[in-house]
Order: sequence, then C-alpha cells, then structure tokens
Amino acid sequence: MQAFFDRVCEAGGSLRKRSVKVLQVNMGKYCNQACIHCHVEAGPGRKEMMTRDTVDQILKFLDASDIPTVDITGGAPELNPNFDYLVESALRLERHIMDRCNLTVVFEPGKDYLPEFFRANKVEVVCSLPCYTPENVDQQRGDGTFELSIRALKHLNNLGYGDPASGLLLNLVYNPLGAYLPPPQERLEQDYKRILKEQYGIVFNRLYCLANMPITRFEKFLRLRGQYEYYVELLESAFNPATLESVMCRELLSVAWDGFVYDCDFNQMLDLPLGGGNGRRVHISDLSPDALMERLIRTGDHCYGCTAGAGSSCGGALVSG
Ligand code: SF4
Ligand code: SF4
Repeated sequence: MQAFFDRVCEAGGSLRKRSVKVLQVNMGKYCNQACIHCHVEAGPGRKEMMTRDTVDQILKFLDASDIPTVDITGGAPELNPNFDYLVESALRLERHIMDRCNLTVVFEPGKDYLPEFFRANKVEVVCSLPCYTPENVDQQRGDGTFELSIRALKHLNNLGYGDPASGLLLNLVYNPLGAYLPPPQERLEQDYKRILKEQYGIVFNRLYCLANMPITRFEKFLRLRGQYEYYVELLESAFNPATLESVMCRELLSVAWDGFVYDCDFNQMLDLPLGGGNGRRVHISDLSPDALMERLIRTGDHCYGCTAGAGSSCGGALVSG
C-alpha cells in the first residue's frame, strides 16, 4: 500500500486546517447499542463519560472562538448526564447544535423527553439508519432497532422535524453493511425518501452516505471474515484526490470525553494527537482557537476511508458520486 501521506504529497501538498466551522464533542463511549461498524467501539459496558468540568472547559473554548456549530456525538451522548447542560449552554452562546442520535435512545428509561428537548433547543438531529429494510438495520445495529427507529422518526416528524417549512432539520445517515463503498448519495437519498414515505409516512431532509472506517470494531469484523486486506485495498484503489479539498478535518476539531483534542473522531479513536504539534496530546483547556488556522493535520493510512470514491465525512459524500 502506498502511504496516504505520499498520495497527498503527489496530489500537491499537505492537509492543513482552514477556519474551523465545527466543534465535534464526543461525550463518551457509553451507548445502549453495540453496532458492528462502530469506530468508537461504544456499548452498554463502556464507562468513559465526559464530566461537567470538561464540558465547562469546552464551553470556555467555544466562547473564545467563532466556531458556529457544535456537533455532539458519542456513544449515545444523550445518556451522559451533562448532555442537556451542554446543549442549553451552547445555545446560549448562539451556536448551531447538531446531535448524532441513534434514535433508540429516546426509549431508554427517563429519555422520552428528548424529542421535545431537541425541538425546544432547535437541535439538528442526525440519525443513523443504514437501510430502509428491517433485516439490514437489525443485522448491523441489533434486533428490534429498525422498529424503534421508525417509531422515533415518526415522533420527530409529528413535532415538525423533516418538514422544510419548520426549520427543524432531520438528517439520516447510511453506511454500508459490509466491505464495500456507499452508492451515490443523491440516488440513495431519493430511494430512502420514496420508500420511507410510502411505507411508513416518514419525511426527512438529507441523507448522508458514509464509508465504514477499517479501524477498531469494524476492522475486527473484517478480519474475522478474512476481508480486511480486500477492503483496505479497495479504499486505496478508489482514492480520489478531488476529495482532499473538503475532507472534514480541514474545518473540524474533535474533542474526546476526557477533553483531549484531535483532528477528527477517527484520529481520536486511534489516539493520534492533534497535528501540527510535538506529537503530544493537547487538552482543550490548553488550546487557543487562534492556534488552529493553517495547522498541519495528522494523517494516516486510515484516511483512505475518507477519500475513496465520492469521499466520506460526518456530513456525507465530499464530491458528487
Ligand atoms: S449507536 Fe452509534 S455510538 Fe452506539 S454503538 Fe451504534 S454506532 Fe456506536
Ligand atoms: S481520517 Fe479523514 S477526517 Fe480524519 S484526518 Fe484522515 S482524512 Fe481527515
């Protein structure tokens, strides 16, 4: 395999941050699900949880910055007792808030208030739904997940989510079930919209197609099936230099549950500290927003997962497929 770094050099330079537009906050690894593709390796047995002190350090950093969007993820971030505090505080700072919601979390004990809480705080809800068929969703995310996801989506629709006139954004996320790249996003979005509307009466705004990253839990999944080498070669052979301009790390900063910062959530899981420094981990309480512009991004061969085909990011494909 040719090193990703060399590919970037061949394509004309290095990956550097621009103005950061998204502060992605990973509130911890605890989750009510344990999906097979999960790069966080989240699940019900995980104990890592962001504390109130760390949330306050993040809010201080946010207040000192002009970063417009806070993207909250996990695990299931809503199961962190400090989730509501982070959302309400970020809204007071007049930032746009996104929550990466697994949908089933709203059926966890004491969490049925979440849809109304999202609406009250104008939270953009981004939900995983890797297929419109129950079999595929349950295979990847656990038995019964599809039915609960549909119930949660209907409730969000009843509150106005997904209706373009409401301004309440409801976006869905697709990722492949196995060792293959996502299909073209626009076409799949049309299929999702038609089938979810016809069969369940569900509407939503955008579908984001993500490629699976061959690290952590999905790497184990691939290795168990003897598909790891095949998949990483597939990603490398599909390298698309046109995606380099818009890889998400250029405009995103990722904060882990313990307050350390990374160029993206994948680097966080691989413990690859923020680029452009001396290789040591950097804590949000020691970072100035001014120190991000033009900062070198830490890359590795896993970055082929973001740059294959139409590219992949938390906001879906990077170029038209
Ligand atoms: S719901 Fe999300 S965080 Fe939880 S295990 Fe699945 S992919 Fe990971
Ligand atoms: S994994 Fe993707 S987002 Fe992260 S540093 Fe590599 S290219 Fe950027």
